[in-house]
Amino acid sequence: YASLIQFIIKITSLDMSLAIEAYCSDRIASLERSLDSARGEEEELRKSLRTDSLTQVCSRNFVLNELKRIVREHKVKQRPLCVAMMDLDHFKKINDRYGHLIGDQILRAVAIRMSHAARNLDTLGRYGGEEFILILEETDLEGATSVCERIRRRIVTNPVHDAAFSVFVSMSFGVAELRIDDDTKSLVARADEALYAAKKAGRNCVRSESDIDALRHSVTV
Ligand code: GH3
Ligand code: MG
Ligand code: MG
Repeated sequence: YASLIQFIIKITSLDMSLAIEAYCSDRIASLERSLDSARGEEEELRKSLRTDSLTQVCSRNFVLNELKRIVREHKVKQRPLCVAMMDLDHFKKINDRYGHLIGDQILRAVAIRMSHAARNLDTLGRYGGEEFILILEETDLEGATSVCERIRRRIVTNPVHDAAFSVFVSMSFGVAELRIDDDTKSLVARADEALYAAKKAGRNCVRSESDIDALRHSVTV
């Protein structure tokens, strides 16, 4: 009689543990599914923070953080590094003439041309409005100037078009090279100064900080 009771107890507890196991594995599978979907959403969110939604190049925050890291790295390695600031010419007029929606479409098309003409290693970001920044790793001023020249030609050679419009656009470029006492701000500021020189020189051209130095020299002599 006692062993019968033992037997019944064993059977019921086994049945209960099997039931608990089945319930738990269902719960675990469902938790795993929600974890997968949360991970997917997190990745989407990270991607959206990295990317500028209009042009699909890097966002301002992302590219500036990258620049910080890359500047640190290149200083340690003592390797050349350049930054180019790039700004569309007379974009206000283009907006005024064709409207903001076509303006946006032109910005997107220009960003595609820029990223195709840049090299794989270069990091392209939207700095603001119609202004972009390009980080050129392992590249000196001469190399960076020629990459920018290639991008400039790629943009200006053919009009941006659609069934409804066809517009020629051009872009100005300013290039600066990393110095030992630079931080990201001073480097970007010199590229900006070179961009300003390109605008002053009549737009649709590339100017580097060495052109500004030469200009300063010719003024002071
Ligand atoms: P410059 O050759 O001196 O650069 O002249 P600009 O007209 O391009 O320069 P400015 O800075 O005066 O004007 C920039 C214009 O770019 C103003 C603004 O209407 C336009 N813009 C900025 N962001 C966007 C955008 O996201 N979409 C569109 N459609 N236009 C933009
Ligand atoms: Mg502009
Ligand atoms: Mg601008």
